[in-house]
Amino acid sequence: MVTLATFVIVALLNPYSLLKASPSMASTLESGLLDCFGKNRLTNYTTINSRPQICYKLLNFSLQNLRFTEPSVPMPYVIVLPSSNIQVQHAVVCSRQHGWLIHARCGGHSYEGFSSTGDSPFVIIDQMNLNKVEVDVAEGTAWIGGGTTLAEAYYHIANASKDRYGFSAGTCPTVGSGGHISGGGFGHMSRKFRLVADNILDALVVNVVGLLLNRTTMGDGMFWAIRGSGGGSWGMVVAWKLRLADINRNVTFFQTNRAGKKTVVNLAHMWQAIAHT
Ligand SMILES: Cc1cc2nc3c(=O)[nH]c(=O)nc-3n(C[C@H](O)[C@H](O)[C@H](O)COP(=O)(O)OP(=O)(O)OC[C@H]3O[C@@H](n4cnc5c(N)ncnc54)[C@H](O)[C@@H]3O)c2cc1C
Repeated sequence: MVTLATFVIVALLNPYSLLKASPSMASTLESGLLDCFGKNRLTNYTTINSRPQICYKLLNFSLQNLRFTEPSVPMPYVIVLPSSNIQVQHAVVCSRQHGWLIHARCGGHSYEGFSSTGDSPFVIIDQMNLNKVEVDVAEGTAWIGGGTTLAEAYYHIANASKDRYGFSAGTCPTVGSGGHISGGGFGHMSRKFRLVADNILDALVVNVVGLLLNRTTMGDGMFWAIRGSGGGSWGMVVAWKLRLADINRNVTFFQTNRAGKKTVVNLAHMWQAIAHT
């Protein structure tokens, strides 16, 4: 039999149990979050209860693994679309204060659904509006927002530098820099210019208590970890500083196909020996 004490403990650990338990408790939980947003002038969000169609649209438009569009898959309670670093900070602080899990989202391309679904009640902080690209041509660097897609970054960097600069990263234009750089980021130019994570010079990260950190204030350990250990683990990266690759205006690449398990295994094995050379 479930005792009152057990219920209280479960409810404290998992706000979703409150949502299921009693509509009035559920609405307290929800209104606490939305009140906090309101007090911090954070208005750019959509809740699943107030505008479900818009919420579904926002959730699904960049989702790559369609199994997460199934009705049985847990949905976020709210999708927040911050347009400044301070709004990301407020969204993190309010969500934490009111017991909601946070999923960071950039390009939405996580095949595992890490940015779009989860077991507990959660909010998504989608950085699609933080997609500013600022290029310093003389220095050969660029700051890109944590919601920038690879195509946006490639385009603005090429434009600003009159096709002089690119950077070494993946081939899919709609992949987001947030998840991609956090996980390494490999592409056509990586043998020559390494992974995109190897070319990160600085970053701005909102940590779990809402502080905005840069490379110096986050320290060497965290700066190392955000460049390869996977997105969503260390905080919300709201901007990356990239070292750009000085490339020729004309670039040639080719693709060749090989079939057969043994051939592919051999190729992958050989590739590991030469990829870093
Ligand atoms: C069609 C396709 C093509 C691909 N091509 C390549 C390729 O050529 N080379 C390659 O290396 N990889 C490639 N990938 C893999 C891709 O790099 C990863 O799936 C990457 O994690 C996607 O990042 P995202 O921002 O689009 O995804 P999201 O789903 O938004 O995020 C992925 C993870 O990162 C977290 N995250 C997102 N934004 C942030 C942020 N700003 N701060 C902190 N955490 C964040 C999320 O919470 C989630 O855990 C490809 C994937 C797909 C679907």
